[in-house]
Amino acid sequence: MKVCKFGGSSLADAGQIAKVLDIVLADPARRMVVVSAPGKRTKTDTKVTDLLIALAQAVIEGKDVKKPLAAVVARYASIAETLKLGKEIVKTIETDLLLRVQSLSRKETADADKCARFVDLMKAAGEDNSAKIVAAAFCARGVKARYASPKDTGMILEGEPGNATLNPESYRKLGKAFADFEGIVVYPGFFGYRKDGTVATFPRGGSDITGSILAAAIRADVYENFTDVDNVYPVDPRIVPEVSEGIDTMTYREMRELAYAGFGVFNDEAIQPAVQARVPINVRNTNRPQEPGTMIVQSRRVMPGTVTGIAAANGFSNIIIDKYLMNREVGFTRKVLAILEEEGVSYEHIPSGIDSISVIIRADKFSQAKEKKVVSRLKRELTPDSVIVTHDYAVIMVVGEGMAFSSGMLAKATTALAAHGINISMVNQGASEISFMIGIKSEDRDKAVRALYESFFG
Ligand code: ASP
Repeated sequence: MKVCKFGGSSLADAGQIAKVLDIVLADPARRMVVVSAPGKRTKTDTKVTDLLIALAQAVIEGKDVKKPLAAVVARYASIAETLKLGKEIVKTIETDLLLRVQSLSRKETADADKCARFVDLMKAAGEDNSAKIVAAAFCARGVKARYASPKDTGMILEGEPGNATLNPESYRKLGKAFADFEGIVVYPGFFGYRKDGTVATFPRGGSDITGSILAAAIRADVYENFTDVDNVYPVDPRIVPEVSEGIDTMTYREMRELAYAGFGVFNDEAIQPAVQARVPINVRNTNRPQEPGTMIVQSRRVMPGTVTGIAAANGFSNIIIDKYLMNREVGFTRKVLAILEEEGVSYEHIPSGIDSISVIIRADKFSQAKEKKVVSRLKRELTPDSVIVTHDYAVIMVVGEGMAFSSGMLAKATTALAAHGINISMVNQGASEISFMIGIKSEDRDKAVRALYESFFG
């Protein structure tokens, strides 16, 4: 059996949904369909999830909700009308949205946690109603299909709103719920339920995670992830438009490292469930289903000395702590990390020198207030020679199984960057030797990616 997940661009309008149905019906193994909320129809359009966030915000701020509510309903209504699904389903969706809107009382708008949970409830409406529409579209074609609810089938989540994680009990529950079923199941991505019954969503782009969890839970043969590109490309085509050749096969480890640094085609948290159950992932294009796409698998044959992909992400900050004889001070790093832990700051990397240590943090998780507190505690409690925080830091990942045990890879990268006058702030190579990371200024990011692409693939 195959689990197929379709992203927002594949469900943006009736024409795209018709393609989804054709793809699913072309292969009888495609029995479990995971859907996102309708995405952008054009470059300037707004995703339904973003419309729902705006609606939730209007409710919280006590504004008139008529217009933002109508904007969401209109998206589903135009799909239902073109697919000739009847007026009933639009009414059902409108009622569902109204009930969600009314679930937050005036008093509760003063409670930040209640509001955050409410935003999750609203966001989840995007995929939930999308799944209902797609199930109805299958039925309208005379196909046996049904919508499945994450609540009834055991998608149990926990953790912060908008950043939930799976409770591992879900695998057993989902496996049981789908041990045996007839026809096609349409499952909404992106959200699940806490044990207390409230809705929780994964991070943005989280329908990929749902698909991977379901593929693992039902031990699917393949997890097909349909999006709007033919393949995963070795570099972001927005930065290197001339990249034409996609990646045929890559390993989970490679995808994980590239997705981490911004390979937007696949959510980085979505890899783990498929890896654990050893389900291959196939990234494919809804608009060109004849293309085989990219297979992501446990292992593959590699050419020594080759790079699979280069990814780059902006938005990091760097805390640089200097202290003479740091290498002799037992427990120094532990104390740094304890301060970060107590202040609720998670770190990404900690490259270190003899007398210095850098802590690289995602800037969006490091507010000005947090920065002030952390820096003052580091200064007070660790008596370093200096603590400097730099912002606008970018991280570039050069990744490839073929890099392991090959000499000269880093030299090639640094030579390419030097030739373009790009200063390297940090280099970090993981123990697996399948990647190295280079820290540079954000403003140099695109130039650096182009230089590295030319050097490794040119
Ligand atoms: N609709 C959600 C988002 O826009 C989740 C997803 O599409 O995967 O982030």
